[in-house]
Amino acid sequence: MRIGFNSDRSNGVGDKPVQLRAATGVDHPTLPPRLVDGMIYNLQFVERERAVSAKTVAFDLDNTLTCFNDEQKAFVLRPEADWILQQLIDKGHRNVLWTTAKRDYTVDFFVQFPLMIGLFDRVITTENYYPDTSAKCDEFLAAYQHLKGDASIAEEFLRKGNVIKDVRLLGYSALVDDSEPKGVSPLGKINFCKAKYFSWYDPDLWEDPKQFLQRILESAAR
Ligand SMILES: [Mg+2]
Repeated sequence: MRIGFNSDRSNGVGDKPVQLRAATGVDHPTLPPRLVDGMIYNLQFVERERAVSAKTVAFDLDNTLTCFNDEQKAFVLRPEADWILQQLIDKGHRNVLWTTAKRDYTVDFFVQFPLMIGLFDRVITTENYYPDTSAKCDEFLAAYQHLKGDASIAEEFLRKGNVIKDVRLLGYSALVDDSEPKGVSPLGKINFCKAKYFSWYDPDLWEDPKQFLQRILESAAR
């Protein structure tokens, strides 16, 4: 059974605490708020993220850090995923989760693995970056205009409906994902680290965690 999440969203951009208590009945009072609320194209948010001095690594969720086992109705964590994220923090990096998955699904993941939330500085879900109204499209274009990005690329993203996880927009150092971004950012090439597709039923495809960490560090240093 999937555990539902009763989201209590407010307007504007800020962070929302993961309401694990609502879903699990367990308090996690030490958890700082991490879910992004609102769109990432909000100029205040863009500037805040770009001002962070630590190298930030954005991680995809599905088939990168985890996969969902439909038979058992449970997430399976990539072996040593938590170790990799902690190593990055220990080396002065900052981790962000950036997923095309929806908020509820993402919270379900954290409900199953509550200690994982502490390894991310922010969580961006599809609601935060996919512009699905004309007002959000305007906000999207304005953000790139503000940063003097290539307007024709930004417009093409909207026309084709393939808005990418643009780590350049937020000044992040690398994107770790099992699928490649469809195109370059209006702000230039993305530092992309291809995660080997993670699936619980195919251990042959699992990458050695130390090698994976090394590749992530190299991508973030480029
Ligand atoms: Mg994926």
